[in-house]
Amino acid sequence: MYEKLNDYEIYVGSKCDLILIIDKYLCKNFNENKLNIVSGNPEVLLNSENLESLNGFLDRKETLIIPDGVGVVLLLKILKKNITQKIAGIEIMEEVLKICDNNNLKIYFLGATEGNLNLAIKNIQLKYQNIKVCGYNDGYFDNEKVQDIVLDINRAKPDVLFVAMGSPRQEIFINKYIDELNCRLFMGVGGSFDLYAGQVKRAPNVMINLGLEWLYRVVNEPFRTKRLSSIPKFIFRSINYHLKGKS
Ligand code: UDP
Repeated sequence: MYEKLNDYEIYVGSKCDLILIIDKYLCKNFNENKLNIVSGNPEVLLNSENLESLNGFLDRKETLIIPDGVGVVLLLKILKKNITQKIAGIEIMEEVLKICDNNNLKIYFLGATEGNLNLAIKNIQLKYQNIKVCGYNDGYFDNEKVQDIVLDINRAKPDVLFVAMGSPRQEIFINKYIDELNCRLFMGVGGSFDLYAGQVKRAPNVMINLGLEWLYRVVNEPFRTKRLSSIPKFIFRSINYHLKGKS
């Protein structure tokens, strides 16, 4: 169910099997370990490979990297790895919300602007009425406030912590505090709170199915153009790594 890419493993099984794994983790005490779901798109993977503050993040025992992004799926195919499907982080977040709703679990929401965070929580609670929102904080805080936030999360004892602060800020936060934090499942969810707030829309299904979601986002939010460069950089770097016989 996993394939090696560069120095780390990527989950290549189906979305359905992944949902079962998460359900077992959260509900059936399947494993004492924490689970950290990483949306493996080129930007997140490249940041995690390059930044000192993310040293070891991708090969932590808690980490499960999903193939999020056409760049990663294409690369796995080029390298003749056995990949089932692209799995979008936002779709897994939705599945986690469903599992939490079915089992009355607690969620802490960290990230986005105060306005979008409040709207997102309101909309999520309307849709999933059994979820217990045990705490939240916007994603624009100073370093001095971090320990208060860590304490707040630990007091709330969430089953799930969603961190929506964009990459690499969300991965750095999780990498630094995962050992200290008293929760079972961690997930960096990028701009997902803005989507749940209704302030941003996902691409139409036809574009998602054609692997063109990135194009929709770039057209609607042109500041993303710069970030696209991570796709070829990541692909070339990984192919190089592969050709040197390392993966
Ligand atoms: N954000 C934040 N704190 C910061 C910078 C960004 O909470 O210091 C939030 C921002 O408000 C947005 C999200 O992080 O909700 C970043 O979303 P982006 O669309 O960049 O992530 P992607 O979905 O592309 O991974």
